[in-house]
Amino acid sequence: MAEKSFRLEIISPDRIFYTNNVTMVEYNTVDGEVGVYAEHIPMTQIIAPGRLTITEENGQKTAALLSGFVEITPEKVTILAEAVEWPQNIDVARARRARQRAQQILEQETDERETALAEAALARALVRLDTVEMNE
Ligand code: ATP
Repeated sequence: MAEKSFRLEIISPDRIFYTNNVTMVEYNTVDGEVGVYAEHIPMTQIIAPGRLTITEENGQKTAALLSGFVEITPEKVTILAEAVEWPQNIDVARARRARQRAQQILEQETDERETALAEAALARALVRLDTVEMNE
């Protein structure tokens, strides 16, 4: 029997990144990884950097989802993404530079705020590199 589908909309600051009927969407939140199916209870969530996996009737799509919010309603799931990228649009050299910059800061920095910012930047860079690698 076919899985039930639901409407998924992913809105990035400059465009509608993705909209379609899907059977599942998986992503990372500040409370951990989640997988959402049709008829999920309504809620809002805060995104943490991670791989976004969209399951359509005929296959899967992956992207890097770095930050934003999710709203789950009975009608649809909306991801308001501050940063989201398909693997083919990820600039690998830029992500490697971001990773190196963050690692250098973490080796030297003792300031709590600077450390937290560098840890977050490192997490984003690693997710981007991981998303590209797994699609090679
Ligand atoms: P950087 O330090 O390289 O700017 P960042 O992690 O601080 O990286 P974000 O704040 O997450 O960047 O994103 C800012 C904007 O730049 C977003 O539109 C995001 O999609 C884009 N972006 C950041 N890094 C990359 C990358 N490596 N490839 C493609 N787009 C990127």
